Amino acid sequence: MESPQDNDEFRKNRQGPVMLKQKKYIFITGGVLSSIGKGVSAASIGMLMEQRGVEVSLIKMDPYLNVDPGTMNPFQHGEVFVLDDGSETDLDLGHYSRFVQGVQFTRKNSFTSGRIYDSVLRRERAGGYLGETVQVVPHITDEIKRSIRDACQNVDLAIVEVGGTVGDIESLPFLEAIRQINREEGLQNVLFVHLTLVPYIETAAELKTKPTQHSVKELREIGIQPDILLCRSDRRLPQEVKDKIGLFCNMSGEDVFSAIDVESIYEVPLYFHEEGLDQKITEKLGLSTTLPQLTQWENQVKKMRDPLSEVTLGIVGKYTDWRDSYKSLSEALVHGGVADQIQVRMQYLDAEEIEKEKSWDQLKAMDGILVPGGFGKRGIEGKIQAIQYARVNQVPFFGICLGMQLAVIEFARNVGQLKFANSEEFMPEGKDLVIQLMKSQKSLQEKGGNMRLGSYSCQILPKSLGGSPTRAFEAYQKEFISERHRHRFEVSNQYLPWLQELGLVISGKHSCAESKTELIEMIELPNHPWFLGCQFHPEFLSRFLNPHPLFKSFIQAVSLSKKEKL
Ligand code: GLN
Repeated sequence: MESPQDNDEFRKNRQGPVMLKQKKYIFITGGVLSSIGKGVSAASIGMLMEQRGVEVSLIKMDPYLNVDPGTMNPFQHGEVFVLDDGSETDLDLGHYSRFVQGVQFTRKNSFTSGRIYDSVLRRERAGGYLGETVQVVPHITDEIKRSIRDACQNVDLAIVEVGGTVGDIESLPFLEAIRQINREEGLQNVLFVHLTLVPYIETAAELKTKPTQHSVKELREIGIQPDILLCRSDRRLPQEVKDKIGLFCNMSGEDVFSAIDVESIYEVPLYFHEEGLDQKITEKLGLSTTLPQLTQWENQVKKMRDPLSEVTLGIVGKYTDWRDSYKSLSEALVHGGVADQIQVRMQYLDAEEIEKEKSWDQLKAMDGILVPGGFGKRGIEGKIQAIQYARVNQVPFFGICLGMQLAVIEFARNVGQLKFANSEEFMPEGKDLVIQLMKSQKSLQEKGGNMRLGSYSCQILPKSLGGSPTRAFEAYQKEFISERHRHRFEVSNQYLPWLQELGLVISGKHSCAESKTELIEMIELPNHPWFLGCQFHPEFLSRFLNPHPLFKSFIQAVSLSKKEKL
């Protein structure tokens, strides 16, 4: 991978960060249930503190034993978020990246129990603990503490999210480690924030605090007294409910905050600020900071809430649990629309259904079609049909990673009449493999972390043959970019001259100096409102305040083509 670039601009222009003499820590735990918004809460606190001028970093610790989430099914665990340095991380790193601007996230910002155990066991085999009995306490907990400290060396405030729910057996070593950090760093330098659920029970017409009481009791049993409670509920907590929770949880009602359901995750930090959360954190940690600068964020939220038009986008994929497996993608589409106050309605279409129906009926109501990244054979024929529909009917199309590879297959089959065109991934013995396993991957045996991962440069073709700018150049307005990748297969260079002769424009390439090879990064079609595919994942670099150029340009094209049809 090459030239990490994420957020360089922000870091350069940041004015006078608040310098602290002593590093501070915020540990965020979750109780009662999973999926109540711990990641977004951590990201929102990060954003607010950063906008107060504090140099922050965010760290995610996951209790499972996989060394990283790279081999996990996104259907179970949500998407794998890829960083510049090629590490495959938890989707919460995606939230962090979209909310804070000054952090260069690396492999250190996300670790699992698996990785912790792996380092300890390797050290044990290498003789690192000769004579000792290696134990969870102190060896595993020491390694956790070392990893936390290592990840936040150069910042003033480390915000550390503990994955899982308090009460799970597997997150205990993490909780023990943060309890120890609290003693070691000084109580005034560490804050424990606990997120719980306060359900409203219709039949009793009451907000129920018992689950919160139990969850805090559990934390206190292991020596952690929360300093701040964030209570997720569908309505604001009245002061008397906060006081009651405070009484049962050994804290002041003033330190209990509501975290209500809001329409968009981007409203969460604004809501927290309104509730006084960042002020409370600032006081408790003894920081002296300015008020957060939220104008830009507020304006963006206003634009999002007040769209001028809307488009419907068909996203053709195979995972049925769309929301988390395509998290960064759906956020990037929201960002792309906010730029021009276009609301993007995402309609998830099951590729296998399209394949079965052998018809374009479902697609006809769509203003644009997107085929995202993916792995494996299931549903690919349906995706190819959707791409053909978009190409033939001049419907804006965006193909990402697998989506680009399938666009090349569709083109070879239906424009080039190469009926058996395919990818080595789906038909290893096929004869017309326009998509092949990358040479560098051929000898690899291990399944984890062995793809082409992370940031690589791409050179954009400014003009196509006819002299008009390429869509890629129109979007980026520059010739050299760098984007994040996660793939094993590539467009075969063998078919390239033929594909180009048929009219496929190669609008982005990566040149590898070592192997003297070129890898196709972007393709597009001329004489089409917008038909573009990229081998990389632009969604990983899209930010709420800084929408990705390709998403912006695609949504603009979708909106324009919709207007023209009316
Ligand atoms: N399965 C394809 C590959 O490995 C595409 C991967 C992706 O879409 N991320 O190249």
